[in-house]
Amino acid sequence: MNKILEVFGSKVFNDAVMRERLPKEIYKSLRKTISEGKDLDMTMANVVAHAMKEWAIENGATHYTHWFQPMTGITAEKHDSFIVSTDIGGAATSFTWRQLIKGEPDASSFPSGGLRATFEARGYTAWDPTSYAFIKDDTLCIPTVFCSYGGEVLDKKTPLLRSMEALNKQVLRITKLFGMDDVVRTVPTVGAEQEYFLVDEKLFEKRKDLMFTGRTLLGASAPKGQEMGDHYFGTIKPRVAAFMRDLDEELWKLGIYAKTEHNEGAPAQHELAPLFEDANTATDHNQLTMEMMKKVAKRHGLACLLHEKPFYGVNGSGKHNNWSISTNTGVNLFEPGNDPYNNIRFLVFFTAVIKAVDEYQDLLRLTTASAGNECRLGGHEAPPAIISMCLGDDLYEVLEAIEKGENYDAKEKSKMDIGVKALPNLTRDGTDRNRTSPFAFTGNKFEFRMPGSSLSIADPNTALNTSVAEALCQFADRLEKAEDFEKEVRILLKETVAKHKRILFNGNNYSDEWVKEAERRGLLNLKSAADAIGKYVAEKNIALFEKHNIFKESEIYSRCEIEYDNYCKTKRIEALIMVEMTKKQIIPAVSAAVADMAKSAEVIKSVGGTNAVEVEIIKNMSALNVALYKKVEMLEKAIAKCDKLESNADKAAYYRDCVNPAMEEVRKVSDELEKNSPEECWPIPTYAELLFNV
Ligand code: ADP
Ligand code: MG
Repeated sequence: MNKILEVFGSKVFNDAVMRERLPKEIYKSLRKTISEGKDLDMTMANVVAHAMKEWAIENGATHYTHWFQPMTGITAEKHDSFIVSTDIGGAATSFTWRQLIKGEPDASSFPSGGLRATFEARGYTAWDPTSYAFIKDDTLCIPTVFCSYGGEVLDKKTPLLRSMEALNKQVLRITKLFGMDDVVRTVPTVGAEQEYFLVDEKLFEKRKDLMFTGRTLLGASAPKGQEMGDHYFGTIKPRVAAFMRDLDEELWKLGIYAKTEHNEGAPAQHELAPLFEDANTATDHNQLTMEMMKKVAKRHGLACLLHEKPFYGVNGSGKHNNWSISTNTGVNLFEPGNDPYNNIRFLVFFTAVIKAVDEYQDLLRLTTASAGNECRLGGHEAPPAIISMCLGDDLYEVLEAIEKGENYDAKEKSKMDIGVKALPNLTRDGTDRNRTSPFAFTGNKFEFRMPGSSLSIADPNTALNTSVAEALCQFADRLEKAEDFEKEVRILLKETVAKHKRILFNGNNYSDEWVKEAERRGLLNLKSAADAIGKYVAEKNIALFEKHNIFKESEIYSRCEIEYDNYCKTKRIEALIMVEMTKKQIIPAVSAAVADMAKSAEVIKSVGGTNAVEVEIIKNMSALNVALYKKVEMLEKAIAKCDKLESNADKAAYYRDCVNPAMEEVRKVSDELEKNSPEECWPIPTYAELLFNV
């Protein structure tokens, strides 16, 4: 029995199921829509709906839902059962084409950033046939886009799909120039590596901060952290291994190519890498992966933390977004081959990405901006908030040669000597493995490492697709007019490298020198999410999105507003939970412990003993407890002041400048207090317990 083949896709209305269950003509037409982006033929929707329902019911489904991705960053669903009544009081099942292609969830509970007037709460979901329907918990889930009554975009999928179209259009202009006439459709491909932490569920439930904010707001460092490097790729503990096996199987059922599971740098940290797919499917699948991780963890008595920075002083979690473009003929357009210097088609696509990343640094950065990722970027073993690109030494040299108009001999450079005769003669990998770079070329794809672990990858990919589409558009405008194509390409490459090489950096991105160097080069360093979000409405970004039909101006303003709102709400909840934990748990627990110890000290004294140690401890703990109380009061004042501000942009800035620092102060004192208090009096699980207990 082949377990993988048996379970893979068993809960998906995929190509094989469609081929088997749909009339040939309808199957062919739907296939064209899916793989070539052809308009959907609505007359066939009824047949598809019926086949879907029959299949779903045979596989245990009783309900269906339009599954969509509102601006909350997570997925939403509203379930309806297939049931209908018959005239004679019986029940039957039904699912019509209308129900397949269009839904009307109440949109008023989803963020719209002021786009939708309150009297018009209606929103629509519309079937996205390019992502397969699937069954989850007895419900047939139909991937859909979500928009308002007036047609304004209210979700993350619509802009992603539009950006894929925009990119395809420009890529085809270039492939045509290179004589690739058989290429009629191209898609961005994405593989999203997902990092996460697993902690014991019982301990998790004892910490309000983890439960309500996903991260620890307090907690002194454990005596042992990750300094020994013994967790990364270490053997996987049985409980975690069981979780991973179970997770793989659940994901396979949903047609998700879960491939690699391993431990990550920090204790209790792990990673899952899937095989890559088209950007739309990859995005849906990543959302499902995150959902499944949480669900499967529960089955194993674990809690899965997807927050970007669950533990202070320990590696945070990212989501490496591997991105490339592939053609319907199976060509990866970022495959450099053995001789990239003479592979000018590759160089055109490659330098287009360099141009795009340099010109739209702010946009790429802001699509990764969130309250959670703000804690991670620039922290322990995480990329800084500065966007730069690492190409690896060889390709960097190729570009240098192009800029200087020199020759480059690929063969000479590619030898690698391990110094052991018996080993096979490896050629050097054209790219190195600079783990510190936020945007690295890794062989035949780019790896954007800035996105946070809890983020939907829709936004970063929308930005990437659109900015690269723009660069290619400018290239095509020029090259289509060229009299001597080869010559014009070489000039274009040279100019592009000269103009945008400031974004290239092969060194250590974690170093302080780089921060200074980047500033000297004029690269942006948008440290806080509050700095980055406003860039949405920069004139050049609005122009980009409008030109490629991704967003209307009003939609961009609404997105900006929603991101500010998400940021402010998250920060507010964190601050309030911190106040609650310190006032209701920490301070009373310490007071009680001090009172207890004071009694012991009295007893010791009464029998003529020496209570000097007890007195010292009492003094120390009381002083810190008083200090903590004062810091919490200051934090409360800061929250109250922030609440009075009008605009979300002002609030975000206030959180950045006043509330965040006030929270840090509280934490500092609380952690000091934790270190100076007897273990049994501390009311919440410690870092050591959380990180080493699974
Ligand atoms: P790592 O970066 O950890 O060394 P790999 O290089 O093996 O790991 O691949 C990481 C991810 O990149 C995987 O999810 C893989 O599917 C994805 N990937 C590989 N090729 C492509 C491609 N052409 N387009 C998009 N993603 C890709
Ligand atoms: Mg990686």
